[in-house]
Amino acid sequence: MSDSEFDIIKRHFLNIGSEHARPGIVLGIGDDAAILEIPAGKHQCVSTDMLVESIHFPVDADPFFLGQKALAVNLSDLAAMGAEPFCFTLSIALPEYDASWLEKFAKGLAHLAQEFDCPLVGGDTTQGPLVISIHVMGLTDAGNGLRRDQAMAGDAVMVTGSLGKGAIGLAATGLPVHYDGSLHQNLNIDSADIRKTLQQFYLTPQPRIAFGCQVAPLINSAIDISDGLLGDLQHILDRSEVGAVLRLDDIPFDPAVTACTTPAQRLGAALYGGDDYEICFTARQKNLPELEEIAHSNHLAITQIGEIHPEKGLHLVDAKGEETRVTKTAFRHFTAGGGA
Ligand code: ADP
Ligand code: MG
Repeated sequence: MSDSEFDIIKRHFLNIGSEHARPGIVLGIGDDAAILEIPAGKHQCVSTDMLVESIHFPVDADPFFLGQKALAVNLSDLAAMGAEPFCFTLSIALPEYDASWLEKFAKGLAHLAQEFDCPLVGGDTTQGPLVISIHVMGLTDAGNGLRRDQAMAGDAVMVTGSLGKGAIGLAATGLPVHYDGSLHQNLNIDSADIRKTLQQFYLTPQPRIAFGCQVAPLINSAIDISDGLLGDLQHILDRSEVGAVLRLDDIPFDPAVTACTTPAQRLGAALYGGDDYEICFTARQKNLPELEEIAHSNHLAITQIGEIHPEKGLHLVDAKGEETRVTKTAFRHFTAGGGA
């Protein structure tokens, strides 16, 4: 690599998340490769997520929030596996050398890396259109990883936190969401404070690491909600070869989301929006009280939104228990003339 690339690494990336030695990191940045020691009785859990400018984030996105978000989305995958963060690598393509941009980006990364004790141990730096790819490594107790393929008939379908925040937050920044080109023009946001709250939802997702790690023994299956509840829950159902009833009226929303949306808008955001980084999981009913306690101790709400059934298929029902059909911008009953 060239001197300028090494200068970038030295100046911006050398000490991210490594204020104190993390056990297991034998060798970090600076050699041909990092060396890691996996503690006895642990399994390593590995995930990669790539963010591409103008596809996953808008051109001119704030670099601090971008750094934070790039790591947060990867940590969210670890949370949904019940894995504690171990370390990460960063591969980044930069259109030009912009010290002030890199400084803010590195600060955003370092903020989360420190919070979750997850040091940067290597990567690759190259010139090109802005692309950020993070490869995160976590540790689970051997055999205790939270998988998608073990949901059982009778399980409660649960979610952490509230849904729709990612899409409504993106729309609140004034940008179109992928499933509804006009949502950002139709939100009813009547104060600058609410707009700011909504934007923060999109920019600073909170990976549910502590919850994911603590509940692993009490949960049958889990996935993080990054692509919208419908698609992500369907992954659990497909991999577990089961079906589910989903009660749309039980989907939890943040008051700031409720305040600026119609019921159909927020439902669309929860089901199709993605970028929520909450965890959808399934668990035996008898484990719910203990799960509630763990959630509470993490200042987190969990909500039951349905049940797993032995027959395949995902059935959406309204408050009266009637089956409904959902389209990307609205939902209607299965009645004459209904559906779309
Ligand atoms: P090599 O030429 O041997 O592939 P590089 O020149 O790509 O090595 O990188 C030199 C060192 O800097 C390596 O330890 C690598 O992991 C690290 N590194 C490169 N880019 C980054 C980055 N964006 N973030 C963290 N570490 C990086
Ligand atoms: Mg290299």
